[in-house]
Amino acid sequence: MVRPGICSLIKRVSSLAGIGDISLSTNGLLLSQMANDLFQAGLKRVNVSLDTLRPEHFQTIARFGSLEKVLEGIRAGLAVGFDPLKINMVVIKGINSNEIRDFVALTHKFPIHVRFVELMPIGETGYFSREHWMGLSDIMQACGELVPLSQDESPLGFGPATYFKSPGALGTIGFISALSSNFCRRCNRLRLTAKGILVPCLASEKGVDLKNLIRSGGSDGELCNLIQQAVLIKPERHCMESKNANAREIFMCSLGG
Ligand code: SF4
Repeated sequence: MVRPGICSLIKRVSSLAGIGDISLSTNGLLLSQMANDLFQAGLKRVNVSLDTLRPEHFQTIARFGSLEKVLEGIRAGLAVGFDPLKINMVVIKGINSNEIRDFVALTHKFPIHVRFVELMPIGETGYFSREHWMGLSDIMQACGELVPLSQDESPLGFGPATYFKSPGALGTIGFISALSSNFCRRCNRLRLTAKGILVPCLASEKGVDLKNLIRSGGSDGELCNLIQQAVLIKPERHCMESKNANAREIFMCSLGG
């Protein structure tokens, strides 16, 4: 959302033939002031990254901004009609794992979809992921009673989460468990970075340079071939769970992860 002209970009993209869905992942800090303009531009759904509901922990984890600003953004997002509005909470054992029930309680108060994400050894988290990692079964246990949802009952998003509901809740609970339950076989993601590189996988160094081809006058056919190349070099699966796998010096924010 700090990109100048984000609303006009969304408007242009949403008017292209074949575009059926546009969503935005955000830390939520600018959402309260931009929610309406984004919605009017054609954005339909939003994922807010929020790892704690305690103001005293917010600074430690997020390092800037304020919890109140993010919550204001979530309320504004619901008010303008983003649907689904998801919250991604990365569970960090010993840091925010005691807040799992608080996030479940949010789904009773609001029609939002909380997704608990296993910590992954990517970027800075790679340095402490093993001692702070909490697996899917422990996270699910901490949630209390959950009822599984079918694919039809799950929120839109083509994502890797599996969804449940806490009985009586307005929203849902999802789990993204990249390590304890690999979902690479269902992954349909390609990520275009701000530098114009199309990256087929978060766990791979490989990518193709679309910007270079476009700037040098490449044809649509050449562009199609290059995009296909990106799909073909997508690895079968990551091996982050391997004890020998090194943490990657890659930051999710630079890849749109
Ligand atoms: S590791 Fe790569 S293939 Fe697996 S889910 Fe993530 S982006 Fe997709």
